[in-house]
Amino acid sequence: MSQESTKTTLGFATRAIHVGQEADPTTGATVVPIYATSTFTQEAPGSHKGYEYSRSGNPTRAALETCLASLEGAEQALAFASGLAASTAVLSTLRPGDEIVASADLYGGTYRLLERVCRPMGIIPRYTEDSAPDAFKSLTTSKTRMIWIETPTNPLLQILDIEGVARVAHEAGAILAVDNTFASPYIQQPIRFGADLVVHSTTKYIGGHSDVVGGAVMGPKNLLEPIKFYQNAAGGVPGPFDAWLTLRGLKTLAVRMERHNANAIELASWLESRREIERVYYPGLFKHLGHSLAGRQMNGYGGMISIRLQGGGPAARKLLTSTRLFSLAESLGGVESLISHPATMTHASIPAEVRAARGVDDGLVRLSVGIEDVRDLRSDLEQALDRLGE
Ligand SMILES: *Cc1c(COP(=O)(O)O)cnc(C)c1O
Repeated sequence: MSQESTKTTLGFATRAIHVGQEADPTTGATVVPIYATSTFTQEAPGSHKGYEYSRSGNPTRAALETCLASLEGAEQALAFASGLAASTAVLSTLRPGDEIVASADLYGGTYRLLERVCRPMGIIPRYTEDSAPDAFKSLTTSKTRMIWIETPTNPLLQILDIEGVARVAHEAGAILAVDNTFASPYIQQPIRFGADLVVHSTTKYIGGHSDVVGGAVMGPKNLLEPIKFYQNAAGGVPGPFDAWLTLRGLKTLAVRMERHNANAIELASWLESRREIERVYYPGLFKHLGHSLAGRQMNGYGGMISIRLQGGGPAARKLLTSTRLFSLAESLGGVESLISHPATMTHASIPAEVRAARGVDDGLVRLSVGIEDVRDLRSDLEQALDRLGE
């Protein structure tokens, strides 16, 4: 099915299964094959079927890229070996002296990339603790080239106004890049709200089965041109096996996300009633500050929940080792439920004072709610919370 004919007429779930995934032209294979080849035989020098060498292009990767572009409502997508390789490719468009404004509530690896890789190269990152569009505006200068946000944020699940921040970026002559990993394209399509580039760790919801690491960048062709150049020149591409696994996971994104949404909202409401818990962070709850904004820019509230325990660090440690179905592990977005401790795991590289000031203290626990039977997930959390009183 050609991308053009499907873009406007077919629904999300159908596009996830069909776009870029026509029957194989040479064999009729219904499922896109894993083209495990580094090179492609040419009929005469320079005369080939569109592929020369797998760093520059591979048919399995191309199928994934075509499908990802359609799902984000973007002109084009580029796949990378990891989410951070995708972020690096976007940041490679900045030059010494350029400034980038980011929200302070940022994936730890992105913060490390900005501070330890970009800053030494002369790029100047600035961070805002306040996530309102005006706060970004106050940090922009004539040298600002890019604004970088995540929404919902990790781990406090704040909701940022994509449209508002896009307006600030464009007024400053900058572009807006949105890391859409926590939402997935099923729940949120930032380009619809004015974002210029979308970045994903496909390791999470897009792959969905915790069995492959990958990343992607989506956007208009003119902005992706230097990023595509970088993809080939720097070479951080996914292999055909990884591209295939990601594409296989992607096919069920719509049904998985519906279940993540349903399970998470049910657990979040129930967790609110537990006396061991001081606060539940979930954008689907009415009292969440970003609830109405989330309702406008998201299709469901996602599968991530954070909780702050009354008993602080000791209670968190006990909970983290008491669950049986929720595995104690980093990462998120897979079919299986995970529990993690941002302070010592994903956010350990951030100095303790900075973390605490942002609310990421030792009593905070993050849940990636999977797609198991929700009553089993609830009983698991229940038996673990009951043990906190012992
Ligand atoms: C995991 C993650 C990344 C990094 O992706 P990798 O695939 O691990 O390189 C970036 N942003 C967010 C929000 C993530 O959760």
